Amino acid sequence: MHTTVWILGDQLSPRWGEWLRERGLGPHNARVLMIESAQRLRARPWHRHKLILVLSAMRHFAEALRAQGWAVDYRMAPSFTAGVRDHVREYAPQRLLVMRPSTWQGAQFIAQRVPLLLNGTALEVLPNRMFLARPEDLGSARSPLLETFYRRMRRRTGFLMDGERPVGGRWNYDADNRLPPRKTWREGKTHDIPPIPRFAPDAITQAVIAEVARIETAWGALDGFALPVTRADALRFFEDFVAHRLPNFGPFEDAMVSGQPFLFHAVVSPLINLGLLERDELCMAAERAWREGRAPINSVEGFIRQLIGWREFIYAIYWREMPRLRAMNALNAHHPLPHFYWDAQTDMACLRESVQGVWDRGYTHHIQRLMVLSNFAMLAGVQPQALNEWFLSVYVDAYDWVVTPNVIGMGTFADGGIVGTKPYAASANYINKMSTYCVRCRYRPDKRVGEDACPFNALYWDFVARHAAYLAANPRTAMPVRALQQMPEAEVRALRRQAEQWIQRLVLT
Ligand SMILES: Cc1cc2nc3c(=O)[nH]c(=O)nc-3n(C[C@H](O)[C@H](O)[C@H](O)COP(=O)(O)OP(=O)(O)OC[C@H]3O[C@@H](n4cnc5c(N)ncnc54)[C@H](O)[C@@H]3O)c2cc1C
Ligand code: SF4
Repeated sequence: MHTTVWILGDQLSPRWGEWLRERGLGPHNARVLMIESAQRLRARPWHRHKLILVLSAMRHFAEALRAQGWAVDYRMAPSFTAGVRDHVREYAPQRLLVMRPSTWQGAQFIAQRVPLLLNGTALEVLPNRMFLARPEDLGSARSPLLETFYRRMRRRTGFLMDGERPVGGRWNYDADNRLPPRKTWREGKTHDIPPIPRFAPDAITQAVIAEVARIETAWGALDGFALPVTRADALRFFEDFVAHRLPNFGPFEDAMVSGQPFLFHAVVSPLINLGLLERDELCMAAERAWREGRAPINSVEGFIRQLIGWREFIYAIYWREMPRLRAMNALNAHHPLPHFYWDAQTDMACLRESVQGVWDRGYTHHIQRLMVLSNFAMLAGVQPQALNEWFLSVYVDAYDWVVTPNVIGMGTFADGGIVGTKPYAASANYINKMSTYCVRCRYRPDKRVGEDACPFNALYWDFVARHAAYLAANPRTAMPVRALQQMPEAEVRALRRQAEQWIQRLVLT
């Protein structure tokens, strides 16, 4: 075998056979290398479910390749460096093929470290075929508009297109979405919210769970892992979404319901980010559901926009802005991350349930990530890099390319407006309207000061006051600054004093 193909842990695509055939490679003349690095598994407090998911999916993927006749050198190595070096020593391939990693650090490792390990083996880095967009697709503006980018991707892929025009005459159906939770859900009657399928761990996954139990640096629950780890199960998992949750996905995309972590979301990010599911097949299945009358256009367009719009937009921004993106701190925020992001010990119901959900399954849907966890950190002046490290560690679907632009950009506005045109800052009013959390919280969302006032309120107005000059200059954020200016001075003073107390009590102690 003169060629080795190194398949990385987040490149478990069903299309490797096709990609390699295009280059004249197959089981007869190439070998696959896969590496589990002990150092990487302990590099940060990864969520235990993330470790189980990635390791089990990799091992199942290797098994599937072997069943197709591939020779697979599956290495459990102290580090990636040791894994590559030892493979080259043992097999002495003429060349090592690797697809460009999705993360900046991964690409740096391949470009700078790997060539030093090869001892005469040639290195060939293939373009990454798992994403649709490139940084050039963003255009030249510092703050590219998602909508412009999204339309470009619609035209490129042909999803929901009627020739050059969007089906139904509209590109975006968001105005029909964003409904608050149903009244019955606020009363705890949630029988009309379907459960998501659970996959019992097989022997391979059980062995991984036993190993992960011994990784002392890991965080999060060990039990309860029920995600698919094979391509076949991932497809079944997605079919269930199309059948049972896609019809309501659009309308309730922004709603948060206590005890219902998934609501009508797809929960496909852990699988698509690994390569087990493919963007285009998901979009095609969603479009088919609309064409066959099984799902409304507002849900289907919303879902497709997440995948070929937001997901690709984030990836393109990452590659345009790295490595400086990670260090950005436009709002000059320096407080530490509150301890309750790790232990869920807080009497703020929205934050408690969100962090508990992360501990239990390494997942919350988008709005808890954005409007609860990031919003609180941004309002409280938490250093964006501390929040970024937390998100990178504790979510099952976390990878640098997706976390860093979402946290530094969308979640905290630390990029000064590259990902979004305004900070996603909100007081308790938003959380109360869009969730059922406030119903059973010890704080009152309608109060601004006092022991029982919701901390989001004073923190919000303090944030507006701290960044008034900046927010006033942007027509999209000038309104709260005007509202603050119209408040009696004594009220503003009381709000800011209250905010200081919350920061002392919730963040700095
Ligand atoms: C602070 C913050 C941190 C985030 N961290 C991650 C992360 O670690 N991994 C991750 O995959 N996504 C992340 N996201 C984006 C988004 O929240 C998740 O992709 C989504 O919640 C995953 O759940 P789902 O599959 O049920 O999504 P659905 O709501 O069902 O959406 C379908 C798909 O759209 C894609 N998508 C939607 N929005 C985004 C976005 N902003 N960026 C990238 N993809 C998007 C995802 O692939 C998602 O699976 C983050 C967003 C924020 C604001
Ligand atoms: S009252 Fe405030 S802290 Fe409590 S759940 Fe509502 S928004 Fe969260």
